[in-house]
Amino acid sequence: MEIVRTVDKLRRWSRASRSTAGSTVGMVPTMGALHAGHASLIRAARATCSHVAVSLFVNPTQFGPNEDYARYPRSFEADCALAGREGADVLFAPSVEELYPNGPASTFIEVSGLGDRLDGASRPGHFRGVATVVAKLLIAAEPDRAFFGQKDAAQVAVLRRMVADLRLAVEVVVCPIVRDPDGLAVSSRNVYLNPSQRAQALALSRAVRRVETLVAQGERPGGVLVAAAREVFASEPDVRVDYVEVVDWSTLLPVEIAAPGTLFAVAAYVGATRLIDNTILE
Ligand code: AMP
Repeated sequence: MEIVRTVDKLRRWSRASRSTAGSTVGMVPTMGALHAGHASLIRAARATCSHVAVSLFVNPTQFGPNEDYARYPRSFEADCALAGREGADVLFAPSVEELYPNGPASTFIEVSGLGDRLDGASRPGHFRGVATVVAKLLIAAEPDRAFFGQKDAAQVAVLRRMVADLRLAVEVVVCPIVRDPDGLAVSSRNVYLNPSQRAQALALSRAVRRVETLVAQGERPGGVLVAAAREVFASEPDVRVDYVEVVDWSTLLPVEIAAPGTLFAVAAYVGATRLIDNTILE
């Protein structure tokens, strides 16, 4: 696996990779601290693309001023090992200056409406940072397919809209949520949790499962599903709910009656750690 540090070199690699007939480039954007969720995206890329690039960049513009940018887990050596093991051809690990050559307050991509919903409501500017950096990565790598996790379902909605609006020639592929055996969605931020918080954090996946069960039993009103999920959180008083929402996955606007494809999403703080989880209702 080759480690690439510059946009020019990544673009040259991508163009050379795609120059033979039938070749395809897959890209997996990440912030590093790679885990089983990231591994599943790299495997999905490996399974469907002849060439695979994984990017590793802790993007400063998607963190708020009081968020965890400085202490976000960084594990470059282990990330190289995991990406290589899962079959990445290139690990793109640029500096902040390489992706923001004129400083952070320059050109932005803003997906109006969607960008202020769910996580965007509680983390102002977050999705502007995400959309901006993913646009930079897609423009640099020109992949045929880009792979994202359903774990960040609102992010998927924002990026799908951005790709459609900008008419980017990339297919957005969404991969299922990878969970630990007890149900907790795998996340780079789970390392922040102490053992008792780790147990409290299971309230998120319990709420998701509760809603899935209710929908399987025929419950459809969004208000009923939200109330049932809030009841689950009430049994874990140290978990502070940020949002519980039943929304249309493409607009992120609330729906009154859940239908196949409706997104049920939660965010909650366990101590200082903000966690998210969701399900696409059947
Ligand atoms: P991050 O490094 O946290 O920015 O995540 C990079 C990509 O991995 C995003 O598309 C995430 O949605 C995806 N991802 C993170 N956690 C999981 C998970 N548990 N299952 C599947 N994908 C995930």
